[in-house]
Amino acid sequence: MALNLVMLGPPGAGKGTQAERFAREHGIPKVSTGDILREAVHSESELGRQVKAVMERGELVGDDLMIGIVRERLSRPDAMAGFVLDGFPRTAAQAQALDEITASRGPVICVEIQVPDEELVRRVRGRRVCDDCGANADAFEHKPGALPDLCQNTERCRSIGPSWVARSDDSESVVRERLKVYWRDTRPMIEYYSSRPTFRSIDGLQTPEQVREALVSAAASALGMPASQLQSMTKKLDGEAQAS
Ligand code: AMP
Repeated sequence: MALNLVMLGPPGAGKGTQAERFAREHGIPKVSTGDILREAVHSESELGRQVKAVMERGELVGDDLMIGIVRERLSRPDAMAGFVLDGFPRTAAQAQALDEITASRGPVICVEIQVPDEELVRRVRGRRVCDDCGANADAFEHKPGALPDLCQNTERCRSIGPSWVARSDDSESVVRERLKVYWRDTRPMIEYYSSRPTFRSIDGLQTPEQVREALVSAAASALGMPASQLQSMTKKLDGEAQAS
């Protein structure tokens, strides 16, 4: 059985950080649509040119474009043993498309991280990403006010010097717009998932470590297995993929 996980929740809830860690620990790819789009903007590709202004306003990129990106990414061999989706789906149309894309891939676990709006605004105000590769400072488990001097993600990042910056869509006015869009377009979609046996909701006000533990327990319980079994499941799948 593949380990298919969809992270749901508002901007700043900690989806990216948790998705990154869960994916690493279970040997499956993290697919973050926000990261894919930011990378496209950074490299000034055709896709980047199309989405830059929309992202800067905190609005949503069109469904057809987003569905095409996710369909292509999930069709790659490394996503066959499972994936962690972060930032997709965000609309009812995207959720329906994801059902269709994953129809023959076993259960899809959906975990919502809940955090109140005022806490989200506070968190996002302090969020920093690497100006060079886009990596989130949280991924390096910094303490607030004590960012590492350098991003350690790539050789280039390690060599060029301090480059932590605020995301251009993390200004307070854009964050409030993104939250408005979240409550209007994305939160209602969670209703679409909430009646499924594989849906779980967790408290995002806990420490990152507690959220991590809650996420593992939620994913395991959604599949009806103990948490310890999740890890061995993906290891086994990985071995099978390498053998074939
Ligand atoms: P994120 O990093 O997930 O907060 O995404 C940053 C921005 O990318 C969002 O504010 C949107 O403009 C765009 N974006 C990311 N994922 C999607 C999606 N699934 N649908 C539409 N727009 C998206």
